Amino acid sequence: MCVNCDWTRRSFLRLALGATGAAALAPRPAFATAAEIPPAQRPLVMLDPGHGGHDPGAIAPDGIFEKHITLATGFVLRRALLATRRYRVAMTRTRDVFVPLQDRVNDAVNQNANLFISLHCDHLPIDNLRGASVFTLSNTASDALSADLAHDENSADTTAPAITGVSPKVADILASLEARATNLNSASLAQDIARSFRGVVPLLPDPERSANFAVLRDASTPSTLVEMGCLTNKLDEKRLRDPKQRALIAGLLVQAIDAYFAHYAQQRMAG
Ligand SMILES: [Zn+2]
Repeated sequence: MCVNCDWTRRSFLRLALGATGAAALAPRPAFATAAEIPPAQRPLVMLDPGHGGHDPGAIAPDGIFEKHITLATGFVLRRALLATRRYRVAMTRTRDVFVPLQDRVNDAVNQNANLFISLHCDHLPIDNLRGASVFTLSNTASDALSADLAHDENSADTTAPAITGVSPKVADILASLEARATNLNSASLAQDIARSFRGVVPLLPDPERSANFAVLRDASTPSTLVEMGCLTNKLDEKRLRDPKQRALIAGLLVQAIDAYFAHYAQQRMAG
């Protein structure tokens, strides 16, 4: 069986049906070995540098724009992922241009991406709050700050994602199973990212959070939104401006993505 096919939505459904949520999210050993994957079998990781063009995103007190930090990090992460020879990589934007949120999601769906990772920088009302956080989709935000943040990120454009619901009952059940499987896998990825950051990159007190982000709403692609730090905090701003620190973040994200796919390899061997 094609390894690439095995990582598509069918395996996510199988995982959801064959494992409880608790089992799917159980702690697992760190990814130890990392073998090269033949080009035709490499999973596709879609990177989404937040904002762009007329939408600067958060603006630090000294004037640096979030959109430039997210694009710079996207490039270094793409390079790091390709260097492993285990992934294909696509990006929702590669220059300073505005891309509507729904187009970013469509890009991932149309290219049958195996993962979608949206890169952002936070801005918080208290300037001594600092640290990265990792978001997954939820209709109910994990806290008021997360709800505000999702509102701000979603306001980049006014086009609401189309709801691709279907009327037949069985199709509805399958769609909800797929959404559940995707949610489990998104949570698993978020857990891997938070774990890879822990002790290396400052984290907010409660770094695994959830909110209703437009770019995370596709039911078929496991996805997460990474707030790499707070531009409203001077220490975080200094860290995010530093290319070495952005390379460090990229390296940790590669580790987390490795861990995520290693988990699927384990599931396949077990199943
Ligand atoms: Zn943002």
